Amino acid sequence: MAEIPGEQPGHALIFGSGSIGDGCLVRIHSRCLYGDALESDDCDCGPELTLSMDMIHAERGGVLIYLEQEGRGAGLSSKARGYRLSQNENLDTFASFERLGYDPDSRHYRDAAITLKALGLTTVRLLTNNPDKIAHLTGEGLCVQHVPLLTVPRSRRARRYLTAKRERRGHALPRTWWLCRIADGLLAAVFVGVASIVGAGLADGLAGVTGLAHHGSLSAAAALLVGHLGWSRTRLLRARFRLFCSGVSGLRLT
Ligand SMILES: [Zn+2]
Repeated sequence: MAEIPGEQPGHALIFGSGSIGDGCLVRIHSRCLYGDALESDDCDCGPELTLSMDMIHAERGGVLIYLEQEGRGAGLSSKARGYRLSQNENLDTFASFERLGYDPDSRHYRDAAITLKALGLTTVRLLTNNPDKIAHLTGEGLCVQHVPLLTVPRSRRARRYLTAKRERRGHALPRTWWLCRIADGLLAAVFVGVASIVGAGLADGLAGVTGLAHHGSLSAAAALLVGHLGWSRTRLLRARFRLFCSGVSGLRLT
């Protein structure tokens, strides 16, 4: 881990046992106490961070740059005021920030770019939906390959937040979310089927070892256990499937 000094301080966390190299996955994440730590349904910060870490771990290496800039660069209190104004006045968060006198997005990524270059990177695969972030890094001399992050909004408020990001800031996000939900539903159905088969097998094995009669409830309990243990491990698979479905459907992500 390395500290990032400067106007937008933060930390660079380097993952992987070997040294990282050009083309590694990079996530530049602006701190969001509500989304990252409190799992707020108002934004997609938490799911984006989780999915980024899943993807970095799946490749056994990458960089997470966590910047101490929040509320689109205006601070935690202003972010809370922005959310409250959005809810009370039925505004999207960009409009509420403008109403409060803030820039819609005053975040900067120069120090992040300097840090990436100091790590010896000239080309990065950037986990983001934000074209501004790509432009900032490119402007600092880095070659950036875009890797989209497709999360499913956890509430109607989050869906509205993501829609505002797409319409007002050009974020690469779907115009509709139903396809993502269908993709998630399909994978959930497959997962339930597999868990039921594995659970029934486990119950059979247990009945054979213990000499107890095989009850259906034992199979159901084993399936629930398999499902509970395995479902969280399919997050990355589900995200990739959502992206695949969005791609083959011809739906534009911008
Ligand atoms: Zn957030």
